[in-house]
Amino acid sequence: MPNSPLPLVSPSSSPPSTPSFEDALAAHGQAPLTAKSVSTLQVNLGKVCNQTCHHCHVDAGPQRTESMAKDTIDHIIDVLDRTPQISTVDITGGAPEMNPHFEHLVRECRIRGRHVIDRCNLTVFYVKGKSHLPKFLAQHKIEIIASLPCYQETNVEQQRGKGVFDRSISALQTLNRLGYGKEGTDLCLHLVYNPLGPSLPPPQVELEQDFKEELLSRYGIQFNRLLTITNMPISRFLKDLQEAGQVDSYYALLKKSFNVATVEDVMCRSLISVGWDGRLSDCDFNQMLDLPLQSDSPQWIKDFNLFTLEQRPIVVGSHCLGCTAGAGSSCGGTLA
Ligand code: SF4
Ligand code: SF4
Repeated sequence: MPNSPLPLVSPSSSPPSTPSFEDALAAHGQAPLTAKSVSTLQVNLGKVCNQTCHHCHVDAGPQRTESMAKDTIDHIIDVLDRTPQISTVDITGGAPEMNPHFEHLVRECRIRGRHVIDRCNLTVFYVKGKSHLPKFLAQHKIEIIASLPCYQETNVEQQRGKGVFDRSISALQTLNRLGYGKEGTDLCLHLVYNPLGPSLPPPQVELEQDFKEELLSRYGIQFNRLLTITNMPISRFLKDLQEAGQVDSYYALLKKSFNVATVEDVMCRSLISVGWDGRLSDCDFNQMLDLPLQSDSPQWIKDFNLFTLEQRPIVVGSHCLGCTAGAGSSCGGTLA
């Protein structure tokens, strides 16, 4: 295989009949997939989370113990010091705020002038010892990307657990009071939508309008943008598909919906993902599938080398069809 000595898909992640992403790329003259730049460092601070959502591609939860250590965070800060090309640090988890070094990392990134994104589940503000977080995030002008798959309680709780809806609404109201999501402030608050089941998200612009009207009229909540994200056929969502006998039909949908216009901007072409243990991957999904970078690339944050990483071939698998289906999907929403 041109991209990697690894199998294209982790054997445990999908059945042998899954369609090939490389075939889809090759059919449009787009293989192999290669990086264009590294402008974003996506840092996964660990798998500890106060929630246990059905669709979670990290298999995160309160019982997980994986959490990034301080010396790994120091390596990240060192990389930022010698790599001005990295403009954004996108912090994710689990619930990244559960890592004891979260605030240290945020401060150090901001001191160095980096744009920082916190992928926040909102309910973490109600964990003991975390109630100061909204003010901390506002003080450091951190962009918040928060999950809220619906403006209706039943749908949110079906996907994210009992009691999540009320706490999410209350957290969003708190953020609004601090200026988040309001016009004329530089405090960005984006919401993330992903479908409840094995379907593609509806058009982002129309859904955003619905969310804005409903959240404002029902709860007085404002936000900046709605990002629609396709559920990736990995981890907990894959398990749900397997239990429902829907793996093949979901892959058939992703393959049928392959959109070549999304290939230019799939997120792996401009970011590197750092795992909780410091291992580098092409994206958060590859990291969860234990797919490391192509073997010629540096494998650990302590060995980070921008020149090599900017030119690397990307390790792909059938799960990548989730990024290129329909309007496309990335951590920043649709692509095309
Ligand atoms: S809040 Fe996010 S990280 Fe936590 S279980 Fe849900 S999807 Fe996973
Ligand atoms: S899952 Fe998406 S972002 Fe990750 S390597 Fe595949 S195409 Fe790139």
